[in-house]
Amino acid sequence: MAYSNHLAQTSPYSMGIEVERAEGCYIWDKNGKKYLDLISGIAVTNIGHRHPHVITAIKEQLDKFQHVIPYGEFSQDPQNQLADKLASLLPDSLDCSYFVNSGTEAVEASLKLAKRLTGRHEVVAMKKSYHGATHGSLSVTGNEVKKQMFRPMVPGTTFIDFNYISQLEQITEAHAAVIVEPIQGDAGVRIPTKAYLAALRSRCNEVGAQLIFDEIQTGMGRTGSLFAFEQFDVVPDILCLAKAFGGGMPIGAFISSQSNMELLTHDPVLGHITTFGGHPVCCAAALANLEVLTTEPWVNQIEHKSQIFKELLNSKSIVELRQFGFMMAVELESEENVNSVINDLLDRGIIGFYFLSCRNAFRLAPPLCISEDEIRWACAEIIAAIEKAG
Ligand code: PMP
Repeated sequence: MAYSNHLAQTSPYSMGIEVERAEGCYIWDKNGKKYLDLISGIAVTNIGHRHPHVITAIKEQLDKFQHVIPYGEFSQDPQNQLADKLASLLPDSLDCSYFVNSGTEAVEASLKLAKRLTGRHEVVAMKKSYHGATHGSLSVTGNEVKKQMFRPMVPGTTFIDFNYISQLEQITEAHAAVIVEPIQGDAGVRIPTKAYLAALRSRCNEVGAQLIFDEIQTGMGRTGSLFAFEQFDVVPDILCLAKAFGGGMPIGAFISSQSNMELLTHDPVLGHITTFGGHPVCCAAALANLEVLTTEPWVNQIEHKSQIFKELLNSKSIVELRQFGFMMAVELESEENVNSVINDLLDRGIIGFYFLSCRNAFRLAPPLCISEDEIRWACAEIIAAIEKAG
C-alpha cells in the first residue's frame, strides 16, 4: 500500500516512492533501492539528509524542553542564539528576525509588516513568481492556474514582468511593497541582471516602497553564497527564509531592522502571532544548520561544482540549461520528454522533479555536499535519459 485512503493527496500523479530512510545525498525505498536525491526535498536538505550536527542539536534540545508557549512570551535559548547568529551573518539593516513555521507564513508576515510600515496596502509582484499557497502569498503569486478557483484574492496586487527595467515605473507611492524572488525558482530558474535588481532597489527607495526578497528557495548557500542578494549587491528591506533554513526541520523567518520589527509590538499589540513559530527544536536545528553551512567548504565549492554540471549537461536534446549555482532548470523540447526523463531517472536511481510554472523543463537542486564523482555519475545518467527521450 503506497498511500492510506485516509491521507489527502495533492495530485493524481504522485511519484509513489515508499520511503524507508534517508542519509546524506541518498534516499532508500522499502525495497532497498537507493536514490540520489538531486532535488534536496525541493531545496530543503542543502546540507544533506540527517546531518549529524543537526540531529545532535535536535536530540539535545528535545531532552531540555519542547514546546512551552506561543512565540514571543518566554525567553528561549534556541531562538535567541539563532537570531544572534543570523544578525552576525546579515547586514546591519537586517538585524532582527521573527521566526515562523513555513515559507508562506514568512511571506504573509512580510506583507503585513510592509503595510504596517508604510500605511499603504498595494503591492507589486512579479509575473511567474511563486510565494506560497495561503491566501496572501497566493495573491502575490504570478501563476493564474493556481489562483483561478480560489478567487477573490487579497486586493491591490499589480504584476509586472520580471527583469524588465522599463516596467519599474509602475511602482509608485501607492505601493507598500515589491515582493520578488532574486532568482525565480518555480518559474524555471529565471535569472535577472544585476542592473535590474539595482534599479528595483532604487525605484523602491524613490517611492518609499519596501523591497521584500523571498529567498525561501535561493537562500542557505544554494546559489554559491549564503543568500543570493549578496551576489547582486542589493540589500532588501525585508528578507524571507524557509525551506533549507531549518536543516530539514520546518521553520521560516522574516527579517528586517529592529526599528521596523518593533512596529509589530504595538498598534496592535501582537501584530503578528504564531503558536509554533520559533519552535525550540526547529530553532536548534536551524542554528546547527547555519553552523554547518558556515564551517563546511560546500558553499564556496558551488561555483566549481556547478561548472561541472554545466560542462556535462551537454546534449543536442537540451534546449537550454538555466543555472545559477545549484539552482538548475534543464529545458527540453516538450512536456512529454520531461515526464519521460523524470520517470527514467527514477529507474536509474536519481530523483529530479518538475517546476510549478515551467512544464517543459525539469529541476535539479542537488544537496550542496554532493561529491564531484556523484555529479559525474549523475550527469552521465541524465544525458542518457534525455537522449533516450529524444
Ligand atoms: N517562496 C518560494 C520562492 C518558494 O519556492 C516556496 C516553496 N516552493 C514558498 C515561497 C512557499 O514555501 P512553503 O511551501 O514553505 O510555504
